[in-house]
Amino acid sequence: MSVVLVVNSGSSSLKYQLIEMAQERTLASGLVERIGEASGNVVHRHGEEKTERAVEIVDHDVAFEAMLENFAQHGPSLEEAPPVAVGHRVVQGGRRFFEPTIVDDAVERDIEELIPLAPLHNGANLAGVRAARRVFRSIPHVTVFDTAFHTTMPDSASYYALDHDVATKYRVRKYGAHGTSHKFVSEAAAAHLGRPYDQLRTVVLHIGNGASACAVDGGRSVETSMGMTPLEGLVMGTRTGDIDPAVLFHLHRKAGYSVDQLDELLNRKSGLLGLTGTNDVRDVTERALAGDQRAALGLDVYVHRMRHYLGAYLVALAGADAIAWCGGVGENSVEVRRRVLEGMEWLGVELDEARNAERVEGIHEISTDASRVRVLVVPTDEELEIARQTLQATGIAVG
Ligand code: ADP
Repeated sequence: MSVVLVVNSGSSSLKYQLIEMAQERTLASGLVERIGEASGNVVHRHGEEKTERAVEIVDHDVAFEAMLENFAQHGPSLEEAPPVAVGHRVVQGGRRFFEPTIVDDAVERDIEELIPLAPLHNGANLAGVRAARRVFRSIPHVTVFDTAFHTTMPDSASYYALDHDVATKYRVRKYGAHGTSHKFVSEAAAAHLGRPYDQLRTVVLHIGNGASACAVDGGRSVETSMGMTPLEGLVMGTRTGDIDPAVLFHLHRKAGYSVDQLDELLNRKSGLLGLTGTNDVRDVTERALAGDQRAALGLDVYVHRMRHYLGAYLVALAGADAIAWCGGVGENSVEVRRRVLEGMEWLGVELDEARNAERVEGIHEISTDASRVRVLVVPTDEELEIARQTLQATGIAVG
């Protein structure tokens, strides 16, 4: 039985999942929150059982100790289900990491060197890698990068029209994100449709609190909406997505905003939250349908931007075979899916209203039988994709 431990280490949280790979079954999962604060929160799930406790977690080493304690006390015992490898999510792999990579000291140094490109993420991801390597010394650790799937993008899509020397010196280009999800979902869509992955053209709409679109041509990302950082592209829960950069000059010159304040404004106080007062699409939709003008405007802007990217990607792919929805909004919001795909019959996209409104577990099709472009809802599973890639990188057999 091959078991993989998947770790997603953020600046103040550690998420983990223990996955048995022969049947791709989650044995246990958990979350250590508020690392570095006086009172941390530790959640562990094993089968039907969920436990929760409050305890101080001073750093990532202590977070891993809390995780080990969870396995020891609440199961499964790591002696009975020992992981053969640990898979780590890392946000930014730059132009250095094109595939899942077995960690050694040089890889750690390279991830550290990429911190300036993802200051909010890579440092925290690396802290998790280091802490996990101290705990699990005798098994391989593999880093799986959010950017790796997008390294196939052509230069025409990944270069900004910025001064060439400046862009090169400071490594400014489009790296994209959510790559693990875009790969998992486009591959699952191909399998569901019974089509070879290397022949299918798919637009993936990963719409959660963070959101991005990706054009996948025969298993290769050829365009994606997030940029050098996750701020570019679609309107998100709290991020602006695309905005004229001159707005920043204006706010700096006229209102005295500092760089840090602009960062905070665009990343945390904008998007649906900034437009409507809440970043939860359920609330925004309910309010909009009840006649709230700000919510209605927010939803309009949100949907408009998604249609803009969908149109662009249908052209980039010279027509698509499938559109695949995932993420908390993409998998659940009947209203957003309906509004984004409205009036696209001329493009071969025909949504089936009844199928769209149905609640179904797992992958399901929501287009009509006549629709040339098949529209699917594909629950994403980034942890499983990380576990698969981890096992592949180590060469350890699945069984
Ligand atoms: P993250 O980017 O943090 O991983 P998720 O993919 O979990 O986010 O998506 C979270 C979002 O999904 C929430 O902000 C909420 O707006 C949206 N969501 C969840 N369930 C529904 C639903 N039934 N209808 C509409 N939106 C939903």
